[in-house]
Amino acid sequence: MKNGKWIVLLGVPGCGKGTQCELLKNSNLDFKVICVGDVLRSNNSMLIPQLGKTVSEILGRGILLPDEAIIDLVKSELSKMSNVKNHNLIFDGFPRTIGQAEALTKVASDFNQKISYALSFDIPDDLLIKRITGRYSCKNCGKIYNDYFFKPEKEGVCDICGSSEFNRRKDDNENSLSVRLGEYHSKTQPLIDFYKNQGVIYSINADRNASDIHNEILSILKS
Ligand SMILES: [Zn+2]
Repeated sequence: MKNGKWIVLLGVPGCGKGTQCELLKNSNLDFKVICVGDVLRSNNSMLIPQLGKTVSEILGRGILLPDEAIIDLVKSELSKMSNVKNHNLIFDGFPRTIGQAEALTKVASDFNQKISYALSFDIPDDLLIKRITGRYSCKNCGKIYNDYFFKPEKEGVCDICGSSEFNRRKDDNENSLSVRLGEYHSKTQPLIDFYKNQGVIYSINADRNASDIHNEILSILKS
């Protein structure tokens, strides 16, 4: 069996990374996804020795997990997999810091592997803010609408079921969102530079429909 490729995904929450992970996982190309968010949720009761607290206690207080703890979790996920180096592996939500990126390089080399692609999902902040803050859904049938991009044909009436009641998330206020995006960019930029220096960064225009993005990713991964 030939070696698989290791792939890192970079991009702000809401950029569509998760959708692309699903599409790759369901393609017939043997992609395994290590989604660090899911790994954390499934290891809620695990004790983090460095802090003497469990994962859920730490996350509940909004504290970031130390790099070593995240790396241990990733290693333990890899150890559950057979023939690790033969699979195409996608890392989602990891690395988040240079320390994690360096550790991942080392873990990869332990498997005679390297990061072959770092896909950076690019989307203008103002557009992402409209996508998130404009989003609402029908209370009855769940159909999703957006104030900026996709309103019902008749204002206030669901196209599908005719209901006039809608759900809107309240926490997505525009100011707090742009603060969070700013923080995210300042943390992510060093990672983009890190992978740029290794010649493996690929920019993806994330302001397109999911299948166009998927096709672009497939053609990058063939190169
Ligand atoms: Zn409806």
